Amino acid sequence: MDRFSILVGDITASDAQAIVNAANTTLLGGSGVDGAIHRSAGPDLLAECRTLGGCETGRAKLTKGYRLPAEYVLHTPGPIWRGGTYGEAALLASCYRSCLELAEEQGIETVDFPSISTGVYGYPMAQAAGVALKAIMDFLREHELPRRVRMVCHTEAAAEIYRQTYNMWYAGEKAERLLSPEGGNA
Ligand code: ADP
Repeated sequence: MDRFSILVGDITASDAQAIVNAANTTLLGGSGVDGAIHRSAGPDLLAECRTLGGCETGRAKLTKGYRLPAEYVLHTPGPIWRGGTYGEAALLASCYRSCLELAEEQGIETVDFPSISTGVYGYPMAQAAGVALKAIMDFLREHELPRRVRMVCHTEAAAEIYRQTYNMWYAGEKAERLLSPEGGNA
């Protein structure tokens, strides 16, 4: 899928039109990527977040990016890992889908995601990667916007897990479509 890629980096430096913030339900800032985004965006981001009344886990809200290179921030509170039997996977998938739906509604062309819930919230990276990639790929197959989506992993180790998961499930996609009876120029 040429509209999707995985890279290593700091999402606050991203040149995407929108970056995603792994927020908490207050939307008033926190640790990890949330803290880094607020530090880079400056105090006006917190001022706008205060007007939003928080956000439910698995949903998303949009703000401007202020001093960030990104024009917009999509804030989504991920689920806290409680062992995997409390609906965590459905909520995590919903985070990715909600961000992509909101991006599409706003006509946003490019979106960069961090690995939601895999820091302080404790979601195991390999399981999170499976959920994240399925949610993103399902959405991209059915929608033209956003035109480009990237996973921006903070470490090479995290990126390697995402790449392995991607290669296992999705790397063959193009070849399969070429071989399918409908065949053609997929
Ligand atoms: P959560 O509370 O959703 O677990 P964290 O911010 O603690 O959120 O972690 C989510 C992921 O974001 C982790 O994998 C962490 O390594 C990563 N991360 C932290 N800072 C950055 C950053 N500046 N850019 C990209 N990813 C980051």
